[in-house]
Amino acid sequence: MVYNVAETVGVLGLDALPYWYIDKLREWGQTPHLSKILENSARLECLPPITEASWPSILTGVNPGKHGLFSFFHVDRATRERRLAHAWDLEHPRIHEMLSFNRLKSIMINPIPDYPIIPIKNSIIVSNLFFNPTPSSHPRQIYEKYFAGIRASRDEDYDGYMSEYIESIQRLIDDEGDVSLTWVTLNFPDYLFHKKPELLKSPRHAPRLWKLVDGLAKQMLDTYDSVFVVSDHGFRMFDYRVNVNDILYRHGYVTVSERDEEKPLVDLLARQKGARTKKVKVPKTLYMIIARLGLEPLARKAFPVFARLYEKVTGVRPVVRSGYSIDYMRSRAYMPEGGTYGVYIFDESVDKDELIEILRGYRGLKVWDSHEVYEGPYVERGPDIVVVGDHENGYVLGPARLMGTIYLKTKYQSHDLWGVFAAHTSDGSIEDAIKAKTLKNTIVTPLIMCHMGVPLSKYSDDLDLVGSLCKRDVRTMDYTMKFRIVKRLLKAGRRMGGR
Ligand SMILES: [Zn+2]
Repeated sequence: MVYNVAETVGVLGLDALPYWYIDKLREWGQTPHLSKILENSARLECLPPITEASWPSILTGVNPGKHGLFSFFHVDRATRERRLAHAWDLEHPRIHEMLSFNRLKSIMINPIPDYPIIPIKNSIIVSNLFFNPTPSSHPRQIYEKYFAGIRASRDEDYDGYMSEYIESIQRLIDDEGDVSLTWVTLNFPDYLFHKKPELLKSPRHAPRLWKLVDGLAKQMLDTYDSVFVVSDHGFRMFDYRVNVNDILYRHGYVTVSERDEEKPLVDLLARQKGARTKKVKVPKTLYMIIARLGLEPLARKAFPVFARLYEKVTGVRPVVRSGYSIDYMRSRAYMPEGGTYGVYIFDESVDKDELIEILRGYRGLKVWDSHEVYEGPYVERGPDIVVVGDHENGYVLGPARLMGTIYLKTKYQSHDLWGVFAAHTSDGSIEDAIKAKTLKNTIVTPLIMCHMGVPLSKYSDDLDLVGSLCKRDVRTMDYTMKFRIVKRLLKAGRRMGGR
């Protein structure tokens, strides 16, 4: 059956756009179109506040317990191995896949998980800005036609790269944009927030990029009936880092490793850039001195200068390592990687409730049993205990390595829980329902699909809430069976050597 789509929709995904930043953009006044959309915004709760888990929640309309991605890593409970998560781990289809099952056309730029691309009918899919090691598209010639000619280097000239990149997207929309949905997710402002903390103070520190994004917002307003802006978490400056594994070490759950364990993400990113790297170990005493005297922010500023010099002279890029690895096999419970937002229990002798009480005894942490915050058949893939920094009071989690100290006073910019969901619809039917509200990130796709007049997934979280926020009838369907078949056929095709 083909449904009559009531609306064509454009969605602009801005990674890490914080809710509180809307005022900064309005005061600056140089992004009129973006600010017009952002006038009607909800504060979007994103748990966990990490790209590789939150975008899937946004794009599927279900929480990680149903879609299966909890962080950048998939943790194998039997072998305790960590590997990078990817699209095969996804257990619920995303919006463009659900539209495809209704024979509706879409353009999807950077669907997370972005690797590998799951090619489906009726959808142009481009995956070339986030973590895909081989920039690609479906159909394949789309990448060649619009993106292969980009000349600027993303790492050396991000401004130049993004201006070519956004122009390419605009040409693609001009040529191919006669679709029900166009969804563009950019790694901006996240990429620059991590590198350029002054951008948190004012958008005027990246004027060209904000104006380019505003141009894209304008094009979407001109092309589609309704336009939405969404982000996958917020961003802010923190005063303290809390080292969860140091707490677990103090209470006897964690053992120190004799060897230096590899960090898959850092190694992958370095390999992706084709760089030769060398690990530089910060001696423990030096680290303690830096931590105690509050010199950590200064050290972090100085390191890139040193690193560039070192790379120029030797051709090898230094990767700084401080602290010690935990012993992944012998420790009984631990946070496996930075950004995993929680503790995995590997030993049956560990009493989960007791450990939750221990963690709750430390200031700066928010701690839950995973079943309190996630729900669905894949909850066990994630951490047993969910831990997030007390963001409102300036605390953020530290790395997975043992740092020798539980609290580190610092100035450290990082993700927080609060993203954005903004609506500018043709009939004004959603704006009042979401304005200044706090909503979960799983609301985005069901609400957009309801607005489009397309049946929602019967597994959507918060179906009742969608019913009260959306003015149109709520119908539901089971899309997961079809998605499973698509994945199985693709995997079989790959094993046969075809694509
Ligand atoms: Zn993100």
